[in-house]
Amino acid sequence: MVALRIRPINDAEIEEGASIVAHKVDDQMVVILDPSEDPDDILRANRSREKTFVFDVAFDHTATQDDVYVATTKNLIEGVLSGYNATVFAYGPTGAGKTYTMLGIDSEPGIYVRTLNDLFNSIEASSDHMAYDVSMSYLEIYNEVIRDLLNPASGFLDLREDAKGGIQIAGITEVSTNNAEEIMELLTKGNRERTQEPTAANKTSSRSHAVLQVTVKQKSRIKNINEEVRIGRLFMIDLAGTERASQTQNRGKRMKEGAHINRSLLALGNCINALSEKGSNRVHYVNYRDSKLTRLLKDSLGGNSRTVMIAHISPASSYFEESRTTLIYADRAK
Ligand code: ADP
Ligand code: MG
Repeated sequence: MVALRIRPINDAEIEEGASIVAHKVDDQMVVILDPSEDPDDILRANRSREKTFVFDVAFDHTATQDDVYVATTKNLIEGVLSGYNATVFAYGPTGAGKTYTMLGIDSEPGIYVRTLNDLFNSIEASSDHMAYDVSMSYLEIYNEVIRDLLNPASGFLDLREDAKGGIQIAGITEVSTNNAEEIMELLTKGNRERTQEPTAANKTSSRSHAVLQVTVKQKSRIKNINEEVRIGRLFMIDLAGTERASQTQNRGKRMKEGAHINRSLLALGNCINALSEKGSNRVHYVNYRDSKLTRLLKDSLGGNSRTVMIAHISPASSYFEESRTTLIYADRAK
């Protein structure tokens, strides 16, 4: 599933004289107008071929956090409780609204907290004879290195394969609390630990992928306790900003970061593109080995796993190039 969210235009953009160039046309269609084209030129529509894009669902400034959550993520919960894996990505350039969608703000919590709330409510309401054990970890992947956002002092963590070939992060903090406020507090604190760098554009850019990993273990309450548990895993990922290194005029350290971000996003894009080739039409090999992010997600992309990508754009003319690039990327992921 591919969704697109256009955030509201903000005061800074209005002050700079930006116009709105990205519009939602209907619940699935988005149009973007090239601000360098003359709006009175009626032939322009025939020349700009990449103008309208269709997604599974499109949101604009009128969409609430709950609208976005319900349409993209809520219905993954049942599957995770039944032992299936799923992944939700927030994709897009810095400043387009990824963290707002995933983490949100205290008065408008995002997908992380809404999902965990519903997960706990479903478990509480379930009348089956199952015992559920929910744990969560919050980590970042920065320059192909994994850091525990709930315990940043623990240094770099390694990916390991367990005996069954499942991917584990050695030494990661696993929290099990079902208190929504506590969770929001933990994640907000963890989010502040993310590696962020000011760029030449003078915006704070998230250089890392933030990954909230939720694991649900299920076992029967009435049969013998040695019975094999079913494990469902949900990844909710606030990806690094997709702006290109060249655009931020960075040199040295940040150029290297740019290359790594591109490597992770490129590996992810390659995997998603290969996975979206249906059955016998698949011509590309799905290569999970190319980056830490795709290795971690190996069992949660493709197969029986459901994947949701929420692409984010600003409506402002000053973001036109980034928005166009984002729309094209998201269109290819379908
Ligand atoms: P990103 O994580 O993609 O860099 P943010 O989520 O930090 O972007 O959003 C940039 C700014 O815009 C933040 O101040 C955020 O609160 C605000 N914002 C983003 N999306 C929305 C939205 N849908 N409604 C209201 N404010 C938003
Ligand atoms: Mg962010």
